[in-house]
Amino acid sequence: MSTYTNNYIPINKYTRPGLKLNGVKKLVVHYTANPGAGADNHRKYFSNAQVYASAHIFVDKTEAICIIPLNEVAYHANDIQQRDSAGNPYRGVAALKPNANFLSIGVEMCLEKDGSFHSDTVERTEDVFVELCKKFGLDPIDDIVRHYDITHKNCPAPWVSNSQKFADFKNRVKAKMSGESVSKASPTKSTTSSPSSSSAATGSLKSKVDKLRFYSKPSWEDKDVVGTVNKGIGFPTVVEKVKVGSAYQYKVKNSKGDTYYITAADEYVTVSGNVKTSAPTKSSAKSNSGIKSVGKIKIIGVSSSAIVMDKPDRNKAKNLGTVKLGDTISISGSVKGSNNAKGYWEVIYKGKRGYISGQYGKKI
Ligand SMILES: [Zn+2]
Repeated sequence: MSTYTNNYIPINKYTRPGLKLNGVKKLVVHYTANPGAGADNHRKYFSNAQVYASAHIFVDKTEAICIIPLNEVAYHANDIQQRDSAGNPYRGVAALKPNANFLSIGVEMCLEKDGSFHSDTVERTEDVFVELCKKFGLDPIDDIVRHYDITHKNCPAPWVSNSQKFADFKNRVKAKMSGESVSKASPTKSTTSSPSSSSAATGSLKSKVDKLRFYSKPSWEDKDVVGTVNKGIGFPTVVEKVKVGSAYQYKVKNSKGDTYYITAADEYVTVSGNVKTSAPTKSSAKSNSGIKSVGKIKIIGVSSSAIVMDKPDRNKAKNLGTVKLGDTISISGSVKGSNNAKGYWEVIYKGKRGYISGQYGKKI
């Protein structure tokens, strides 16, 4: 059963132009800035409003209504709030260039009379995003963005003034998604987009799920399974991260010093302590900035380009620029940073230090 009902407004030049989307790269969260008006109030309003504005889905504490088909354009995220010195409008999400309205779906959260979000509205919005992430094959952490992230509009205002609330929201959407997949998916599923194939990990490991298998040697074979660990249980020592087939495992030790192997996929395990990239083995060329290069990465996993940030925290960083898919850039290391399970590459961008999310670079 869907988390929202379809009740489309008529095609009209202002609020439902009837144009087709060019794809769904991101899901955009908004707030209505209209205290006391629910989802159906907004449907009625946009069915004959003469403003170039709208969104696909409106969520309140009792229902979610989709007012524009999810393969059509809504005018929700291509406004101009700021311009750079060259006169170009601020566009913070590279994947949504040149026009976010053709590449994303907009979801509006309605407000209570006092201007707050009702907890049922937030929960229903989480459920809507779970459904949309599944429908379009998107990742809650990477692919749900705020209107603010795209144009710097103060929307949704409570999650602009407090980014942590937005990060928490995405984490709950992710938890709801993996909560379902854990029961049916094999815990051997892993990612190949880890920041490094040669990273040494220090710290301890905990399982995020029940009955997570661990192995006697680097293997995904049933015959090598030694046992399972439940949620919250793990190993006191993580020795290193190793590539096993197309995915990664952590080599771990128990309190007696016995060695085992367990998936390194962050859906299933968390490692506390630092995960560092091992010391550079070759290049030590210096860039003209004096920042020491330890190698290069190739940009992967983005639709057009990766964003270079001024600090390793994608919720708080300013964007310094972008690097195109497939291009290479020198790195000076990698760091854990904040708000990204995959960490960040420390890159040398235009002679200065910058950061790119771990999943968007592959060491070459
Ligand atoms: Zn908005």
